[in-house]
Amino acid sequence: MTFRATVLTLYPEMFPGPLGVSLAGRARDEGTWALDTVQIRDFSADKHRTVDDTPAGGGAGMVLRADVLAAAIDHARARNPDAPVIAMTPRGKPLTQARVRELAAGPGAIVLCGRFEGFDERIFAGRNVEEVSVGDIVLSGGEPAALMLLDACIRLLPGVMGAPSSGTEESFENGLLEYPHYTRPALWEGRTIPEVLRSGDHAKIAAWRKSQSEIDTRSRRPDLWERHDGVRVQPASGARREKKD
Ligand code: SAH
Repeated sequence: MTFRATVLTLYPEMFPGPLGVSLAGRARDEGTWALDTVQIRDFSADKHRTVDDTPAGGGAGMVLRADVLAAAIDHARARNPDAPVIAMTPRGKPLTQARVRELAAGPGAIVLCGRFEGFDERIFAGRNVEEVSVGDIVLSGGEPAALMLLDACIRLLPGVMGAPSSGTEESFENGLLEYPHYTRPALWEGRTIPEVLRSGDHAKIAAWRKSQSEIDTRSRRPDLWERHDGVRVQPASGARREKKD
């Protein structure tokens, strides 16, 4: 089954961009995923091809019009009927690896890229659009966010990544950051590789990696650690919550 990405944007020339090279590019050549871009401006009803207007209530910038966006979304849905419509916006739900996994297991995604001040709010309920953020940062447009979202999905598609296990030990897959990696040379600028990794003792190596993963998550991402720890040490009230993966 081909994962079909439809990107709605004012800058279709930004695609496939980085998704045209390396693993994603090869996977696209092989038909593992497909990409369509839709120029939002083509759905403007006026002769100046206007897509935006001034914000109601005043203030700086311009807002993408709901009627133009709706026409573009309806067109995309007709071509990619089963895919969820996702708008990239800092006001959205933070993207997680769990959501990426769900999307990668589905038929694809219709991804709406904002510009200027963003979207007329009515589009989200009016067209059943999911709002997703790629982090607590503000980009100048939704395109780099869409590239992130799609890249994260594409690498999970069957056959895209080399070793089958390289997707499952990764950061966030078990609610923790991954353990640190090292490679040759064994000595670099006076810095060595942890001895245990050179011991050949697989049980010891696994234990060290697990412990590093926990130590690093606790110190770097207390938010992740708290959730993980909360899941592990549920009160013994009988119904112990299952550890999420
Ligand atoms: N005025 C908006 C920001 C608009 S930035 C606000 O303060 O919330 C212009 C566009 O860039 C947005 O419409 C969105 O599509 C995209 N964008 C910016 N930051 C983003 C983020 N963190 N995640 C996803 N999309 C983002």
